[in-house]
Amino acid sequence: MRDLKNLYRQIIMDHYKNPRHKGLTSEEGYIKEHIKNPSCGDDITIQSKIEDNTVKDIRHEGTGCSICCSSASVLATLLKDKSVAEAQTFTRNYINMITNQSYDKNFDFEDAIAYQGVKDFPARTKCATIAWLAFEQTLKKQVK
Ligand code: ZN
Repeated sequence: MRDLKNLYRQIIMDHYKNPRHKGLTSEEGYIKEHIKNPSCGDDITIQSKIEDNTVKDIRHEGTGCSICCSSASVLATLLKDKSVAEAQTFTRNYINMITNQSYDKNFDFEDAIAYQGVKDFPARTKCATIAWLAFEQTLKKQVK
């Protein structure tokens, strides 16, 4: 169990120190969503490009704690190139897992499983979900 926790910590710290898909673009066709988490100072903007029912790209920018910033990087890495339906299912299952709501226990969260332990720290659940909530808002704007 300790090895697993170490692995999860490594995933989180790796994405925190070497964030993927970081930095916003001025290219056209992106939907932008900004969310703040006053309790921790997290401030995240998610910028997504959705075309042909597919998540073509996800960018993120912002400041915050390691959980918040790394989870934006994990989100962008995992959901890029997924279909909108797959991305929606992934996002809802992830948010429900972190916030102790019912979710699909057999769902493959890939590296996002690293945040599973956050559900035991209610003060940090917003940190782990803020980027995902912003992305979910983007999908809602897109899927009419
Ligand atoms: Zn935070």
